[in-house]
This record gives sequence, structure tokens and C-alpha cells, in this order.
Amino acid sequence: MTVTDLEARMAALIRGEIRKLAAYHVPDSAGLIKLDAMENPYRWPPAMVTDWQARLADVSLNRYPDPRAEALKASIRRVMDIDDGLEILLGNGSDEVIQLLALTVATPGATIMAPEPGFAMFRMIATFVGLNFVGVPLDDDFGLDAGAFVAAIAEYRPALIFLAMPNNPTGNLFDEAAVRRVVEAAPGLVVIDEAYSAFTDANHLGLIGQYDHVLVMRTLSKVGLAGLRLGMLIGRGEWLGQIDKLRLPYNIGTLTQASATFALENFDVLREQTRQIRAERERVAAALAQLPALTVWPSEANFLLFGAPAGSAGAVHRRLCERGVLVKNLDGSHPTLADCLRVTVSTAEENNAFLAALAAALAD
Ligand SMILES: *Cc1c(COP(=O)(O)O)cnc(C)c1O
Repeated sequence: MTVTDLEARMAALIRGEIRKLAAYHVPDSAGLIKLDAMENPYRWPPAMVTDWQARLADVSLNRYPDPRAEALKASIRRVMDIDDGLEILLGNGSDEVIQLLALTVATPGATIMAPEPGFAMFRMIATFVGLNFVGVPLDDDFGLDAGAFVAAIAEYRPALIFLAMPNNPTGNLFDEAAVRRVVEAAPGLVVIDEAYSAFTDANHLGLIGQYDHVLVMRTLSKVGLAGLRLGMLIGRGEWLGQIDKLRLPYNIGTLTQASATFALENFDVLREQTRQIRAERERVAAALAQLPALTVWPSEANFLLFGAPAGSAGAVHRRLCERGVLVKNLDGSHPTLADCLRVTVSTAEENNAFLAALAAALAD
């Protein structure tokens, strides 16, 4: 087969929008202080690691996992204080939960809608499964523009709306009244993405009881278990029963179930780590605000969005890398994020290294 034959065959088989996609890019972080992906920097105390390993030694890898992960769900219910009347569905990270939601509503021509700038996977997964995606611009302060959103709902009749609270990459919560206006106008499902719930006092589980088309999505990634891959959807059994039909039967492996159950039994350790991260967030935000020519936005998450002097985000990002610190450059990802970078809040030591590198980078 010639190259042209191969290209023709691929063009005939693979949808144009898939061929046009760039593969999800994860930058090389070797040797750098990694502040680009909202990971928890802390490890577990040695005694806890030993207990965990002992637990894993008892796992029977010759058997298939519990397909419903009952023990793990009971731990989630207890730690997150989830009402007995609600169901829980588990995914391989919330990314898989987003994919399951999209597959569930994937009728021809259906639309997914979310505010922008927002979490990139909403648009990507819509494209993967052949759905339309409509991003509705946030207002100038990155607030939810309820008027614009309700107008977009009337125009596109979205099957699925995602509202991330706190939002990534802006770090803010949306106004409660604006959220209710969107929920009340929605003809389909509304999923509140609480990936950063550990870093805010806000919690939207109560909306599930008030609106029968609202679901809440969470993840253990940002609280310290990014490597484990465990996301969850919380909501009414009627919805979750339908979505569960599309879940591959053993999507959560035995090692993940055992490890996550163990981590939730020891959740006080993770809670203390997130408490320290929240305290550091306020300190780093104040330090950034002191640096001349920088803008920093308030955050309810474990990261901070900041604006560099006009036209300098690329250079600031590169100079930080040269000084051993990796952050996320958001310049060019959305018009309202021109000159913006995002830094994950880490240990006091890593945060100080970042602040020193940034001060030097700005002085160059
Ligand atoms: C990080 C993130 C997620 C995805 O987390 P998983 O690691 O796939 O569980 C979901 N939503 C938002 C807004 C995020 O920032």
C-alpha cells in the first residue's frame, strides 16, 4: 500500500474532526518543581504506607474486581457525607465520568455546553463522541454570565451542561443565583463539577435534592490521589442507573478499590494536607499581589491564576522553566486568558522556590 492509499483509507475511516485533533500534550517535567497540574505535593507518613502495602498484599488479583465497588462506595458515602437516598457511580478519574455522561446523551446533533475559559476535557470529550460543543464566555471577572448562558441555552437546547465550581483555570466559584438561573433554564442534565471541593467550603450536593436534573461530579485526584484515577458521580438513582449501563463492567480495578478505600479510612491525613495547601494559597496569593506588574485572581482551589505584563507570558514561563519551575502557560488558550499563567499551590518550600524564581524571571 502506498502512503497515499494509506492516507485515503484513514480519511475514509476516521472522522475529520478526530484527524484534526492534536494529541493531549503532557509537558516533560523531569528535574523540575512540578506546579502545572494541581497535584497534592505531599506523600503519606511511612507508617501509613506500610499499612497500605499490607492491605494490598491481601488483594486477590486472580479474581475480577467487585463490579459495583460496594466497600469503596460505602467509604465515599461516609467521608463525603452523601445522603442514603443518592447513588454513586465510579469512573477511572472524572475524565471517564465525563465520557460516560457524553455517551449517555449522544443522540445525533446533541450539544454539550460549558462556560469558557473552562476545563478543556468538556470540549475534547464532546468531539470524541461526535457531539456539538458550545462554550459560553464568562464575564470580565470570570463570573457566570447568566443572561448570556440562558440565551445560549434557548438557542442550542444543550443535552448536557457542565459547571465547574471552583472553575479551572480561573479558580473562582460562580454566583449561586446565576447557577440557579442556568439550572432552571436547562432542558437537559446539569453536572456540577466539584473537582476542587477539598479546597473550598462550598458544596452543591444540596442542589440534587432541589432539582431532579442536577448531578454532582467529584474526584480524588486533587486531594492527593491523582495517580490512582478515581472520579465519581453523585445523584439520583434514576439517572445513574441509565449511565451505569455504559460503564465497562470492571472499570475500577481491585488495586484501585483497595487503595482508595484505605485512603478514605485515613482521610484525616489528606484533610490536614489540604488544610496546609489552603493556608499556603492565601500566603502565595498575597506574595504575588506584592510583585509589581502582576495581577492575581482570588482562588477557592489549589491553584492561582495570575497575569504577567502584556506580551510576556511566554517569556515568563520559559524563564521559570530555566530556573527549575514548571507552571502552566494559558496565554493563547482563550482570549480572556491573554498573558495569564496558572500555578499549583504546593509545600511552603516549593512555593518559596516558585516565588523567588518568578521575582527573578520578572526582573530579567
Ligand atoms: C482536574 C479536573 C478534573 C479531572 O480530574 P480526574 O483526574 O480525571 O479525576 C475534572 N474537572 C476539573 C474542573 C478539573 O480541573
